[in-house]
Amino acid sequence: MKLPEKIHLKAVLFDMDGVLFNSMPYHAKAWHKIMKQHGLDLSETEAYMHEGRTGAGTINLVCQRQWGKEATQEEIESIYREKSKEFNSYPQPEPMTGAWQLLQKVKAAGLTPMVVTGSGQLSLIDRLEHHFPNTFKKELMVTAYDVKHGKPHPEPYLMALQKGGFQKDEVVVIENAPLGVQAGIAAQLFTIAVNTGPLPDEVLLTAGANLLYPSMQTLCDDWEKLTANR
Ligand code: CA
Repeated sequence: MKLPEKIHLKAVLFDMDGVLFNSMPYHAKAWHKIMKQHGLDLSETEAYMHEGRTGAGTINLVCQRQWGKEATQEEIESIYREKSKEFNSYPQPEPMTGAWQLLQKVKAAGLTPMVVTGSGQLSLIDRLEHHFPNTFKKELMVTAYDVKHGKPHPEPYLMALQKGGFQKDEVVVIENAPLGVQAGIAAQLFTIAVNTGPLPDEVLLTAGANLLYPSMQTLCDDWEKLTANR
């Protein structure tokens, strides 16, 4: 596989959960448990389908479905606070296998690595520096605190272009979730999916992924070939 010729690569936009950290199993578990405590049904597998939405977006979607109305601001805040607390009570998620090695290759090639996440999970954002030292510049990060719209809206990726001063044909996106892929595609960026979770490949391809790898390690192993002369 090779990137299209029109791409003159300058930056690689990494999603965080499920791409840099193997954190999704804990997120899914925490969502399911806290929603249940509030009388709301969200299975762990369905949580993967909503991955990338803002916390408020996920909560409202389930409330609409079940109660026929949006959650109040207080409900959103308390559910999201409890979910974050639950998530932080689990073991610390490990970096995804292959992520650090890929980041080294990206840096060695003179490309700029950026994080673009819908997450507002400060514990993980802080741990980026610990696990991937001297890799991500804070001023280039896009998190839940920067954007109004979560994925699948293109805003997070468009903001990354703006923050980094990059053109659309100068970046690629690496995403693991269907809504994240949709966001990358909606921003008209070349989007590589890595299927690191339990969903079938079909879900990521239907979301529009330009390329699909079964893991971060396989993407890392293919990186030189993929980016040769780009
Ligand atoms: Ca993700």
